[in-house]
Amino acid sequence: MSAAIPVSKLPVYLDYAATTPVDRRVAERMIPFLTEVFGNPASSTHAFGWSAREAVEQSRAQVARLIGAQPGEIIWTSGATEGNNLAIKGAAHANRRGTTGHLITVATEHKAVLDTVRDLEREGFTATVLAPGPDGLVSAADVASAIRADTVLVSVMLVNNEIGVIQPIAQIGELCRARGVIFHCDAVQGAGKVAIDVEALQVDLLTITAHKMYGPKGIGALYVRQRPRVAVEAQIHGGGHERGMRSGTLPAHQIVGFGEAARIAALDMMDDNARIGALRHRLLEGLLSIDGLVVNGSLESRVPHNLNVSIALGEGASLAMSLERIAVSAGSACTSAAAEPSHVLRAIGLSDDLAHHSLRISIGRYTEPADIEVAIEAIKSAVAFARAAH
Ligand SMILES: *Cc1c(COP(=O)(O)O)cnc(C)c1O
Repeated sequence: MSAAIPVSKLPVYLDYAATTPVDRRVAERMIPFLTEVFGNPASSTHAFGWSAREAVEQSRAQVARLIGAQPGEIIWTSGATEGNNLAIKGAAHANRRGTTGHLITVATEHKAVLDTVRDLEREGFTATVLAPGPDGLVSAADVASAIRADTVLVSVMLVNNEIGVIQPIAQIGELCRARGVIFHCDAVQGAGKVAIDVEALQVDLLTITAHKMYGPKGIGALYVRQRPRVAVEAQIHGGGHERGMRSGTLPAHQIVGFGEAARIAALDMMDDNARIGALRHRLLEGLLSIDGLVVNGSLESRVPHNLNVSIALGEGASLAMSLERIAVSAGSACTSAAAEPSHVLRAIGLSDDLAHHSLRISIGRYTEPADIEVAIEAIKSAVAFARAAH
């Protein structure tokens, strides 16, 4: 068995938008649900099942409370990739006009939204993919002019995972409600960072996932509005769990962890944000002395957790490879495996070259001031090194 890398040798973690560690309070809550309260929540004939069920329902209420929903409107999923698939395919199939329909989304959405919309296009649906402004924001007016008589669904994310910008969800929600179009929001990067109220936002479907908010990986939730009721067709069939919308044995330990993470998020959000905002301020201040550095995305409509910068270095130069002391993303966690430049940075108008020389630095609950100083030094010296070598 290979040993873990000693903590002292690990880089400073500044990739909270890719995933977060599980909060110790969350991990402790989960443990008894692996060993003692192990019953199947669907077992209705004995106490093992009842106690697991009770914990699942308590967590459902905690997750619902975080987003201003009713517990009965929460459907457990394996994460936000599944949640986005269920929301978009499920609502498109259940509400199509005849055999098809029109969908609207934005070019800077997560691939779990964009690829799902692409898949529906192969089935015969049509789609409008809106271009955001250079600040990464889309306006309700842009959405309004794309709505057609056969538009079934609009999908716009709350907070962008690469550039951290906050979209005007309440305005888009109001518009969609007035036009009778279903509105889905991928709120993964907003949950625990900005206050979410599904009533105020007028969203019909909303996706979140635990591992971006100090809960475990592999558990998410889809909010499905009950009043007025939104029809969603199941994508996974089986025992009829989750009101028939998502079959499969519920992982009580994961769900309990998600519930606890949601409870803590609601309590700590204001303090976390104030502290993280100060760290981001210092990070930006420290990096601004770098020649040719630009910030990607609006700084006004943005969560404090994210900074995304590009540095003009010239073709062939490499930045991320020389950053050994900090764990950050080059563009996006999902695209860094491929050489393709980030679709988000492209959509806001960056050249491929500049997009290649960009870093997403995401700050979280356990980031300390010293970590930010390490990051500033590491980035400055990586830029100096890349420029000297070039
Ligand atoms: C991480 C992420 C997802 C995917 O969530 P998983 O739970 O990892 O499947 C979807 N949308 C956004 C905006 C994300 O940041």
